Amino acid sequence: MKSINTVKLTIQSLPENIALARVFVAAFIAQVDLTVDELEDIKVAVSEAVSNAIIHGYEQRGDQWVDIIVTRFDDYFEITVKDTGKGIENIEQAMEPTYSTDADRMGLGFVFMQSFMDEVAVTSEVNKGTSVTLRKYVAANQDAPN
Ligand code: ATP
Ligand code: MG
Repeated sequence: MKSINTVKLTIQSLPENIALARVFVAAFIAQVDLTVDELEDIKVAVSEAVSNAIIHGYEQRGDQWVDIIVTRFDDYFEITVKDTGKGIENIEQAMEPTYSTDADRMGLGFVFMQSFMDEVAVTSEVNKGTSVTLRKYVAANQDAPN
């Protein structure tokens, strides 16, 4: 389906930029009439995806780039978070609840993304990077009043 509007933010892979990514997505999505709870859920999902890019994709190296692309379609919008880091060997396993390659983590990031969004699609190539697409359906005429 033809997109009707796309915006893109590129951040340096620093934890202090995660909040900026959340606000960027929320500001764009404010054109759709969502509830405060729905908006909060989306912000959490975005934070999880961006955190993963920084923590796992780039293993906390702060000198890399993370792209956040938000596209509004007629009846859904999607957020893609992209890194060019180490990639995921086994995506299915990575998405399992409580699976983590880091013993100190809960392994719940993908669980949050899946429970807060309507669709989560992951593509990844080892040593090339990872792309996580989060999708949320909205009614076609659900534009917020101007
Ligand atoms: P939590 O999110 O609860 O702090 P976590 O980050 O380990 O823990 P998930 O977000 O569910 O849990 O991710 C599961 C696993 O998938 C990670 O431990 C990591 O191995 C892998 N992973 C996720 N995102 C990426 C990424 N962008 N690049 C490389 N590996 C990733
Ligand atoms: Mg995580």
